[in-house]
Amino acid sequence: MAIDDFTNEELLAYIDERLPVGRATELERQLRLSTPLLQRVIQLMQSVEHGEVTLGAMWRRGRWSCPPRAVWAGFLDGRLGDGLSQYLRFHLETAGCRLCEACVRDLNRGGATEGEDRVQKIFQSSTGALQSRH
Ligand SMILES: [Zn+2]
Repeated sequence: MAIDDFTNEELLAYIDERLPVGRATELERQLRLSTPLLQRVIQLMQSVEHGEVTLGAMWRRGRWSCPPRAVWAGFLDGRLGDGLSQYLRFHLETAGCRLCEACVRDLNRGGATEGEDRVQKIFQSSTGALQSRH
């Protein structure tokens, strides 16, 4: 199956958790392998936030613009560029999304023995990086 086999509509449905399970599983598998696909997902999320795409369901479900778990996995793996990583850090730290914080902690717990420490390091280093921009 080709990497670009997913339409924007499908990616938006995935972000909105409306994609059928089988298709979502396949997408998550490809997200682990394909950084460009991961970037497409985040860019679509950004375009939604900027009002370029209208998705009523995103407002209704009450946690608008939370990146899917597979996107956070890519973030932790360091597979995203500066701009996209900054967007995710903003969501996590400035917006202070507790759901995503829990998701990131959970991902770390599964991937590293000292999960909590690793989360702290990510928070500290990225906070420093944001402050140094001003
Ligand atoms: Zn969130």
